[in-house]
Amino acid sequence: MVTRFTGNFTQQAALPQSALDAATTVLGHGRLHRYNLLPGEVGEVAALEEEFAAFTGARYCLAVASGGYALGAALRAVEVQPGDRVLTNAFTLAPVPGAIAAIGAVPVYVEVTEDLVIDLDHLAAMLDAEAGRAQGAKVLLLSHMRGHICDMDRLMRLCDDAMVTVIEDCAHTMGAAWRGVASGRHGAMGCYSTQTYKHINSGEGGLLVSDDPELMARAVIGSGSYMLYDRHRAAPPPEVYEKIRYDVPNVSGRMDALRAAILRPQLAELPDACEGWIARHAVIAGALRDSGLAHVPRRNPHAREIGSSIQFLPHAAAPEQIRELLCACAARGVELKWFGAEEPQGYTSRYDSWRYAPVPPLPRTDAVLARLCDMRIPLSFDLDACALIAAILVEELSRL
Ligand SMILES: *Cc1c(COP(=O)(O)O)cnc(C)c1O
Repeated sequence: MVTRFTGNFTQQAALPQSALDAATTVLGHGRLHRYNLLPGEVGEVAALEEEFAAFTGARYCLAVASGGYALGAALRAVEVQPGDRVLTNAFTLAPVPGAIAAIGAVPVYVEVTEDLVIDLDHLAAMLDAEAGRAQGAKVLLLSHMRGHICDMDRLMRLCDDAMVTVIEDCAHTMGAAWRGVASGRHGAMGCYSTQTYKHINSGEGGLLVSDDPELMARAVIGSGSYMLYDRHRAAPPPEVYEKIRYDVPNVSGRMDALRAAILRPQLAELPDACEGWIARHAVIAGALRDSGLAHVPRRNPHAREIGSSIQFLPHAAAPEQIRELLCACAARGVELKWFGAEEPQGYTSRYDSWRYAPVPPLPRTDAVLARLCDMRIPLSFDLDACALIAAILVEELSRL
């Protein structure tokens, strides 16, 4: 019989030695501010931006202070105004509605499906309804929550037809793709996080990509470029800034050289890390599916998803049973989160706990969240560890 798992669910993989070396170099010369450069020096932040632009295939990239900052910068770049309605998934993390509310706009939630993607039928109906309103939503902040990617062809068609601008929240899809095109490259702007629990780790940090020169110029000036935008490399040419340089308020949120220095070696290793997550996720997802005891969200065949966490919906669904499951798994060292609890805990807050925004009736999302169990898969677990975790999950699910 399987016994107990002893791994740590919040222990990250160590940073590569090359990141430690790069950090020491930056600390040694002390030029931590991104614009504090020697004549002719590129700087770690501008180099990271070039490398991330190349990684995603975007024309432009801006490194910023956090993933949440990147979302706000994108909303400001597309000129969302106070009072505007902004569509977003009901199932997402607090920084997403937070970024909308922080600029005085109003989050308007779209339902999610059992496969944890935005409900495109509901979106279509909402777009029709918004089109009929005097101040209808002009922007969708699409969150690829937990790395699940919806049918992006249909989503973009719906939004293009409704003239709704799409901003992608790719906090969980760095390294993921739709039809071979990097996640974050289908909407007008893509936003990523380099916070510790995401795919590359600088403690805090964010990245913003776009092909649109004017949007990116707004984001660069807005992030606090002090008219030093010519020191950016993955950014639009100087003439683009001429048109807007007096009009964009400075909301400082730059990335610093130390963080960029430790991210660059991790970005180089990200493709390997992604393969590692995909393999680990496959072990656990396969065992859960084979057990027939839970629904595991299905991946669209055109999506490449990076399973840095796993979600499942137990078929035995009463709240009491799910509480029992969490307790039994915790007693055996397996830490699950549940999105069905009334009170938000840690990262599991739900749309109805964001009370600064209107809480609409979302029966489909409620039914999904009521059963939704969630577990991190750190790369510090090997495949055997994942098999052990899967065995514990299946055994405890079978006891419900
Ligand atoms: C982590 C996260 C963000 C951004 O978070 P920061 O902590 O600000 O970097 C945005 N969206 C989702 C879904 C996230 O999980």
